[in-house]
Amino acid sequence: MLTRFLDFFFPRTCAICDTRLATSEQFVCPQCLLALPLEDVTTDWELNRHVFQWRSEHPSLYRMGALCIYQRENSAAHLVHSLKFERNRRQGVWMGRLAAKRLVGTGLFDGVDAFVPLPLSRQRQRHRGFNQAEAIAEGLSQQTGIPLRTDLLIRHANRESQTHFRLADRFRNGRDLFALAKGAEATGLHLMLVDDVLTTGATMMSAVGTLEALPEVRLSTFAWAWVNMSSEVWTRAKRESME
Ligand SMILES: [Zn+2]
Repeated sequence: MLTRFLDFFFPRTCAICDTRLATSEQFVCPQCLLALPLEDVTTDWELNRHVFQWRSEHPSLYRMGALCIYQRENSAAHLVHSLKFERNRRQGVWMGRLAAKRLVGTGLFDGVDAFVPLPLSRQRQRHRGFNQAEAIAEGLSQQTGIPLRTDLLIRHANRESQTHFRLADRFRNGRDLFALAKGAEATGLHLMLVDDVLTTGATMMSAVGTLEALPEVRLSTFAWAWVNMSSEVWTRAKRESME
């Protein structure tokens, strides 16, 4: 009743195509929901190109997965963008639940002990009002029953946003973005790091590198959307970052 009343005076629209939503619809219209560029559910989460690219450096890395394929201007990009810049925390939780519903049967979350959202710096979080990775992780947690851990990682302040950097610079800038929180304890656990988007993977792997200091942890990653970068482009950028 209240939703219907509010819809009449403040119509809600689809976060992707902007058409008006029906009372029963949330955030995205049924057409856009059907057209999401989903990652193939038959993907091997333990051995795909992302894992292959990083496992030699990070032996504790176990699985890497994503719900959608991210491309400039595609609908997944739209949705992530609207989450970041329109301060819509509830949309983030909804996106996490959506991901968990689709992927829970694929083995991606099997044996995971906790979701660890990539933190924002305190400064950035204050500015943005909420952490989009944490909202997504909360949705994953609600749907799967796997707990959330926000007491393990902290993010150093005053690092620039990576979005305008060249690829090679992103690898360079991705080092040492995080630190272990004081008293962080997760011995023997399987932790799944969560972020909204994975592009080069440099930010995610910076967090993996930090958590690797905890004894006997197994680390997996989830991004709501990830880039299908060809391995040539990736390898070239990585090589340049070392020079
Ligand atoms: Zn739509």
